[in-house]
Amino acid sequence: MENKQFQAESKRLLEMMINSIYSHREIFLRELVSNASDAIDKLYYRALTDDTLSFDKDSYFIKVVADKENRTLKISDSGIGMTKEELENNLGTIAKSGSLAFKSETELKDGHDIIGQFGVGFYSSFMVADIVTVISRSLDSDEAYKWESKGVDGYTIEKCEKDSVGTEIILKIKENTEDENYDEFLEQYQLKAIIKKYSDFIRYPIKMDVTSSRLKNGSENEYEDHEEEQIINSMVPIWRKNKNELTPDDYENFYTEKRYGFDKPLKHIHISVDGAVRYNAILFIPEKTPFDYYTKEYEKGLELYSNGVLIMNKCSDLLPDYFSFVKGMVDSEDLSLNISREILQHDRQLKLIAKNIKNKIKGQLQSLLKEEREKYEEFYQSFGKQLKFGVYNDFGSNKDTLQDLLMFYSSKEKKLVTLDEYISRMPEDQKYIYYASGETNERIEKLPQTELVAEKGYEILYFTDEIDEFAIRMLMAYKEKEFKSISSGDLGIKDEESQNEPDSNENKDLFDYMKGILANKVKDVRVSKRLKSHPVCLTTEGEITIEMEKILKSMPNNQNVQADKVLELNINHEVFKSLKDAFEKDKEKVSLYTNLLYNQALLIEGLPINDPVEFTNDICKIML
Ligand code: ADP
Ligand code: MG
Repeated sequence: MENKQFQAESKRLLEMMINSIYSHREIFLRELVSNASDAIDKLYYRALTDDTLSFDKDSYFIKVVADKENRTLKISDSGIGMTKEELENNLGTIAKSGSLAFKSETELKDGHDIIGQFGVGFYSSFMVADIVTVISRSLDSDEAYKWESKGVDGYTIEKCEKDSVGTEIILKIKENTEDENYDEFLEQYQLKAIIKKYSDFIRYPIKMDVTSSRLKNGSENEYEDHEEEQIINSMVPIWRKNKNELTPDDYENFYTEKRYGFDKPLKHIHISVDGAVRYNAILFIPEKTPFDYYTKEYEKGLELYSNGVLIMNKCSDLLPDYFSFVKGMVDSEDLSLNISREILQHDRQLKLIAKNIKNKIKGQLQSLLKEEREKYEEFYQSFGKQLKFGVYNDFGSNKDTLQDLLMFYSSKEKKLVTLDEYISRMPEDQKYIYYASGETNERIEKLPQTELVAEKGYEILYFTDEIDEFAIRMLMAYKEKEFKSISSGDLGIKDEESQNEPDSNENKDLFDYMKGILANKVKDVRVSKRLKSHPVCLTTEGEITIEMEKILKSMPNNQNVQADKVLELNINHEVFKSLKDAFEKDKEKVSLYTNLLYNQALLIEGLPINDPVEFTNDICKIML
């Protein structure tokens, strides 16, 4: 017999399970049944794809046996089993080791969240058992092994006897305590109820010996106990059921059972198509962004079944990247079991299904937006960025699909609005859809460049995601209205107060002088039409805006891109008078003021100042 230690992370999870005060301990059964079902799936699949293996449908089952006297609960299956190595690797370590690491310490201490939302698989059996014994024989081995653990101290593993391929899990159920009743996990009616609740759709029979009393033979009033094996679950997979028979709870349970996410689904989509292509699908839009969603580690895809048999865990061809957040499964009779990944990519049926699914998802999102605005906003907070990436990627080829799903924060509404809502409110004289970029809504709100547009009463969309401006560039226009940055050279606003139209020649010498001081830094120094109360701001000419410059500069292959910046001055501002004054009397001062104003404009934009020490010295100078 060998004594082994658990891997550190498993130990932590185990500790949590053992000390758990989680109120839904019953889910341990769901976990074990689900593992058993997975194991049969694997065997079933092997039998279907390997001619040397025979297959007898009746021999696939899961059996639950409670023994009150010995306080044991046994869950056995006729699945693929585990070799010695697999017992050690699968039960001694957590395969998805990252999953625990990302959880915060408080969540870990509490444990509640993890168990409820994330599910914990095999280890959850330690919530109800003192000793867990696993006896397993693999299809690929002639030997059987017994794995046993009493918790964090480790586990033992030794050779043993087992007649048939498969796995038995034996739980030594904990003694009742003052607060907790563990006996219920040995009660038939209770176990039946738990199986019905969480595992009804499992496709293999879950059997239990159920005792009932019946009239004694030949007697009219004498009863006897009688034991009979019953199948507890209905075995109809949820996706084959009629939508009308299903409750939101059923879908939610399925989502958790399948481990599609740690959260609850925000929306489910149940599809049954019986046309040129036949398939059933249950898709989910998750509520929260998976922790690795915006990283390279995240893998999109749907489970793919061929007539009820799982053939692929994550079929990525079923989902476009911009809907990669969708979870769920597809079952089609029209797909061959032996299909390989490569062939699948070119499969006509699969392409049809994928297209169909894409349209359904889009339709669902549109109706969510229309009918359940709050939910849609919640969705958008989690996955809106992905939609914007979708507009930008593939040279904009999906922009038509996605543009109606976009939302941006509005200066007027102080909440997210769609582009359609924006243009439907546009006053007649407004030519463009205006937007402003910045780090946060609060910062954008204070940008001096917004002053004229805001005064005109025009709505401004706030761009706070890096992708926003790039996506919009790809879109170019929405319903023929072009987008315009509030920092772009020409705002396309006819300033009615054209008596104000400054005679630029009047200040030409001053501006030329300033331009000389700021050579290499700005392309031009100009009179501003957009500033009302602020003295100065930066705008840009050409394709690249200041926000874009910031983003492109922060990229790994830092291309040396520069926005063509223009320093705009508000000639009605008191500060400008001082500047003019200085220009006549003290050129040294003009230089000081120019640098100060330029640096202020940089600060407003959230750009770094070239020489902060010089800047603070300059400020000191004007104080003296
Ligand atoms: P998950 O099911 O999410 O992979 P679990 O903790 O539930 O995580 O199970 C860990 C692994 O142990 C499974 O992936 C599987 O390889 C193996 N396993 C558990 N139970 C069984 C079983 N009854 N038969 C075969 N393998 C099993
Ligand atoms: Mg599992």
